[in-house]
Amino acid sequence: MFIISKKLCLLGEIAVGKTSLVRRYVDRQFSERYLSTIGVKISRQTINLKKIHHYEQSSLQFVIWDIEGQIKFNYLTPNYLQGASAAIAVADITRYSTIERLSEYIQLFLSINPQGKIAIALNKSDLFKQKEATKIIEEVVIKNHPQIMGIYPTSAKTGTNVDEMFKKVGEQLINFDNQCY
Ligand code: GDP
Ligand code: MG
Repeated sequence: MFIISKKLCLLGEIAVGKTSLVRRYVDRQFSERYLSTIGVKISRQTINLKKIHHYEQSSLQFVIWDIEGQIKFNYLTPNYLQGASAAIAVADITRYSTIERLSEYIQLFLSINPQGKIAIALNKSDLFKQKEATKIIEEVVIKNHPQIMGIYPTSAKTGTNVDEMFKKVGEQLINFDNQCY
């Protein structure tokens, strides 16, 4: 058994659905209420990598860090981001300002983890027509940044694309590691 552990941080404005995405992925639950996160919450989720790794019985354990409140102005932020292999930068697809601010979070993350990898979740896709969502994704020009691994329209409410996004992030981290051996 071969277990690789990777720290993953959630980034993004307040109420975009960071805590909801983790809750959907780890606990298979969703709540309409605002889920206040006290300080930093750390969750773990293991995925089987048999198919994507040359070791027979290998697993990837995500150690998922979710911080409360304003990440940008939080004294905990450097500790929060330190040592992360990847981040999921989350925006609320119904609030354009949260999409515009993604690049600030990405820069902050990369200033602490220059080799870090990033996925973007355009969350609350259940509230938006797919066609409009695609247009917004095209507007997120930062997708051309080499460290952005993908852009996923997600819904923590319905579960759409949530498992898929985490799985893709895991696969990409492992593939990247293999290139370095
Ligand atoms: P955070 O501050 O980024 O951690 O945001 P939360 O996870 O606490 O979510 C903020 C609010 O958005 C809560 O009322 C959630 O129920 C709601 N929410 C989160 N994700 C979704 C989603 O995918 N669809 C819908 N419709 N609401 C969502
Ligand atoms: Mg939260």
